[in-house]
Amino acid sequence: MKKQFAVIGLGRFGFSVAKTLSNLGYEVMAIDASEDRIQEASQVVTHVVQADSTDEEAIRALGLRNFDVVVVAIGQDIQASILSTIILKEIGVPKVVVKAQTELHGKVLRKVGADKVIYPERDMGQRVAHHLISSNIIDHIELSEDYSIVEIGASRQMIGRSLRQLDIRAKYGCNVLGIKTGEQINIAPNAEDLIREQDVLVIVGKNSDLEHFEKTFA
Ligand code: ADP
Repeated sequence: MKKQFAVIGLGRFGFSVAKTLSNLGYEVMAIDASEDRIQEASQVVTHVVQADSTDEEAIRALGLRNFDVVVVAIGQDIQASILSTIILKEIGVPKVVVKAQTELHGKVLRKVGADKVIYPERDMGQRVAHHLISSNIIDHIELSEDYSIVEIGASRQMIGRSLRQLDIRAKYGCNVLGIKTGEQINIAPNAEDLIREQDVLVIVGKNSDLEHFEKTFA
């Protein structure tokens, strides 16, 4: 059985989540209070419903309890986002993923039972900022408050040297998870593998250690 998803709130973020799931071949129920948004979404997803997610009766009637994941992507109206989360957890939705506007909003969502809180603007801002610091930093994914994964393009100081020579683990406390060469990725790099021009290193570590590494090599 394929997973069943519902997305509540079809702003830019919710619409993108619903459309991507649908393109990947999943059934998605898209819910919004606005008729215009529903009209637009009906072009890209299988089921659309015009409903107010703070209306408990209306939400119960949709049978959302039987969905695997419900995404609450209501941006501006923080009260509606919190109320919707409470209702969804109360009716027994197994996994409720909610978009938060601010850290405080996220904290409240956690307290009322959200299984996962996401901060798309904050996360994208961080990724872009890391990319801006150095064009060698291709991507940055935060794993927790203290740990991240970065993708960093081979800089001149790395080219032609092996992981043993670069001594990344001992010197910077970071681990190289993989080396991308064009479309290929070596997910078990060994100490003698040489870094070539155009290679991309995928590295995991503590943020402070990664920054130290980025500053030295980028
Ligand atoms: P984004 O920042 O991702 O564009 P918005 O806050 O602009 O998000 O969009 C949120 C969407 O959620 C809007 O389409 C709005 O109609 C919808 N929405 C807001 N409150 C409710 C609610 N209580 N029930 C259903 N949909 C809602």
